[in-house]
Amino acid sequence: MKTRYPRLFLQPGRERSLLQGHPWLFSGAVARCEGSPEPGELVLAVTADETPLAVGFYNPLTNIAFRCLSHDPESMVDRNFLRRLIVDARALREKVVPGRTDAYRLINAEGDGLPGLVVDRYGPYLAVSFSTAGVERFHREILDILRKEFKPVAIYERSEGKARSLEGLTDRTGPAAGRMPPPIVDIRENDLIFEVDILSGQKTGFFLDQRINRELVGSLARGARVLNCFSYSGGFSVYAGQGGAAEVTSVDVSLAAGRLAKANWTKNDLPEGDHRVITADVFDYLRGDEGRYDLVILDPPAFTKSTKDVARAAAGYKEINMQGIGKLKEGGLLFTFSCSNFIDEALFEKIVLGAIRDRGKMARLLKVLGPGPDHPVNLAHSEGRYLKGLMLSVSGSGGFQTRPDLDFLGMGKNI
Ligand code: SAH
Repeated sequence: MKTRYPRLFLQPGRERSLLQGHPWLFSGAVARCEGSPEPGELVLAVTADETPLAVGFYNPLTNIAFRCLSHDPESMVDRNFLRRLIVDARALREKVVPGRTDAYRLINAEGDGLPGLVVDRYGPYLAVSFSTAGVERFHREILDILRKEFKPVAIYERSEGKARSLEGLTDRTGPAAGRMPPPIVDIRENDLIFEVDILSGQKTGFFLDQRINRELVGSLARGARVLNCFSYSGGFSVYAGQGGAAEVTSVDVSLAAGRLAKANWTKNDLPEGDHRVITADVFDYLRGDEGRYDLVILDPPAFTKSTKDVARAAAGYKEINMQGIGKLKEGGLLFTFSCSNFIDEALFEKIVLGAIRDRGKMARLLKVLGPGPDHPVNLAHSEGRYLKGLMLSVSGSGGFQTRPDLDFLGMGKNI
């Protein structure tokens, strides 16, 4: 067959995951490539015996050598193809994002068929991040489509971080279309108002992925004493306050985060005296805090960004969970999260169970948590499931002894 794109030949038998719908091929699965494509160029992946499989971005510099755009080998990836994906992404959000909400993830990279492209909507603004050499090659076309389809007041670009340098790209931040957004933008989520710092806030400004978990916390907070650890701009805190919490404590090491959390509380007309904002390292703060809470939220940053650090990160998650569990009243609710790519659901559950047992407690699983539906993930792409969480009810010893000598994780006793 005559192909439009250079052919990327797989090693014999390495087409399995692609055939199951996985969007990546690792470099070890690649035998050779025709010509010498530049990082991010389009190629046609073919089996060792030349059966065409899929069209995608090739990058000889990275461990993820191929990122699929279409499992149809006949596909032509052009402006029209990209426009269709972007319009489809919008149609999904129209179905799954609740009313009275003008901030959400509009494009979630592989989850919307666009590897490396993240677009978040913040009211009339869009925040974009290009993190692969592939989408980088379509930078101009993609911005143009976003401008025409969404007519934002401005598009602000935050293409930065380790993923880009791995792809052989340098950082690019700044206004990509329209005028410079103001330093603080007010957004609406379920009629609550939040200040978002699009220019320099964490991620692209707000943890949009936690919306459905904030809603859950809000619905359970009536009369509760709530401890929100790693609170950033106070998302969980404001929902708890709105849900009728008796008192909310927000703890974050960043001064700027504390300021935002305070501003967001008052912006939603919640009583000032019911919110304590503490700027401190959560690990240190919890050691000294004598309080007992009905509801504890643990939403730490990713403790690992590579497979090398998994054991150390597991130890960090275990410690923070032991501390958080220690602050709960009998029968209290724990919302505990990990956003590390390299800690999967099963390992995270083991870590939390280890913390529960070392505290001599029992936990009942009330709900498995994850990101909201504006963060779709291809079911075949388990690596896309970075955010995982557990909602637990934690109670007394359950009648058997703690065994710190038990090695829950099979990774050594110090975890
Ligand atoms: N729960 C938040 C998002 C948390 S992001 C939300 O829903 O919006 C993680 C936060 O942890 C960041 O704000 C970061 O400043 C903070 N952080 C990182 N390490 C910390 C530490 N050791 N102690 C306290 N806060 C920390």
